[in-house]
Amino acid sequence: MTGPKHSCGVVGIKADFDIASAMHTALMIIQHRGQESAGITAYNDGSMETVKGNGLVETAIPKEDLVKLRGKVGVGHVRYSAAGQKDVVNTQPLVATSSFGSVAVAHNGDITNSEQLKQKYMKEDGWTFHTKSDSELINKILSKHLSSVGDPVKAIRATMSELDGAYALTILINDRLFGVRDPYAFRPLCIGKIDGGIIVVSESAAIDALRGEFVRDLEPGEICEITKDTYKSDIVKPEHPRAMCMFEWVYFARPDSVIDDRGVYEVRKRIGEVLARECPADADLVMPIPDSGRAHAIGYAIQMGLPYEEGFMKNRFAGRTFILPEQSQREFAVSTKMIPIGRTVKDKRIVIVDDSIVRGTTLKKLVAMLRKAGAKEVHVRVGSPPIIAPCYYGVDMTTRDQFIANHYSVEEIREILGADSIGYISLDGMVEAFGFKKEDLCLACTNAIYPTRIEGEECRRD
Ligand code: SF4
Repeated sequence: MTGPKHSCGVVGIKADFDIASAMHTALMIIQHRGQESAGITAYNDGSMETVKGNGLVETAIPKEDLVKLRGKVGVGHVRYSAAGQKDVVNTQPLVATSSFGSVAVAHNGDITNSEQLKQKYMKEDGWTFHTKSDSELINKILSKHLSSVGDPVKAIRATMSELDGAYALTILINDRLFGVRDPYAFRPLCIGKIDGGIIVVSESAAIDALRGEFVRDLEPGEICEITKDTYKSDIVKPEHPRAMCMFEWVYFARPDSVIDDRGVYEVRKRIGEVLARECPADADLVMPIPDSGRAHAIGYAIQMGLPYEEGFMKNRFAGRTFILPEQSQREFAVSTKMIPIGRTVKDKRIVIVDDSIVRGTTLKKLVAMLRKAGAKEVHVRVGSPPIIAPCYYGVDMTTRDQFIANHYSVEEIREILGADSIGYISLDGMVEAFGFKKEDLCLACTNAIYPTRIEGEECRRD
């Protein structure tokens, strides 16, 4: 992947032990979902305490603060911030106090009607907002409903009825922990049992890391209360299909996670197989753009009957280029991040497989590096259709302008990249690899048809 960034990852744990260390481990495992800030809020002895800051989990939550954090229930968050939201005040979890007590919210996704809701509440109730984060809005609306209806599940349900868009939430209401998934199930959220407690988290890999047992994904529209031994669900079945973000499987999620019953690694491998069927290449070897194109490349190589090679050595101490906020930062990072293995690529006809192309700047550099290292031919294969439309659901692809596919034809993109050939998987081919019904996926960034109503965009429900 050579373009935008994800929004966030969330976690909540309730256990019969102090959860700080387990929360920290879970956040480290979902670190790829956001590398700019992290935080944990724990409830202990009648009050909430939060440790959070900018940077990777290890920096944002220093060990000396972690060991002092007490509490057997808590929520946590890792975050990528869009432009203008980098202040520590926007980091999560966000805590509010109301007549009902304390409420902490950690959010993954984007609320598409947040501006309208903010305007409404500022005008009607005189609310003020201190952050640019949707979590503050969610927290305020939830606190309002808690004060009026009292019951947390009813208050969360009332809050959901006001929100449009994507949200996977972990919520702490005093000592009660909830996991919430929006009615379209845009973002992943699952439950697992760990020794002495229960976890709700963005990706199942965190459950594995805590040597726990995966239980299940949350259903669309589900509110799940987590206790230390079990969980209790409130599900209002939506009247529309799901809209699970296809990018979770294509790029964002860890390959060792399982989302909505589909292993991320397996889906990526199947994408590679379909891609090979649709866009074969006459070549000597197949190699990935590490790391996110790896499983796609394995599938491609197997289907083609070609050797799979690691042709780039990656500097593991560099961050994901997609997640770095500025283009200049991304460009500099690429040249120090990946070095071709000269003896593997020299005089070879190479297929390089990437998961997607957003801007194409990184890929162009990598193709040039392969040529410089002596590759005879470079054939680019891509595991998602051209990205052409913005995302309103929590991925930082906000303008049509940034997509190379909106400016150039496929043949022109090949030329710009300096490749001998280029092939994208088809939309139907990608959907086949997922094994879901097409209408249960959000594919909007590839077909500009949105699952929910967005002003100025085509909605598939119209
Ligand atoms: S528009 Fe694209 S990135 Fe955004 S939720 Fe839909 S599939 Fe995912």
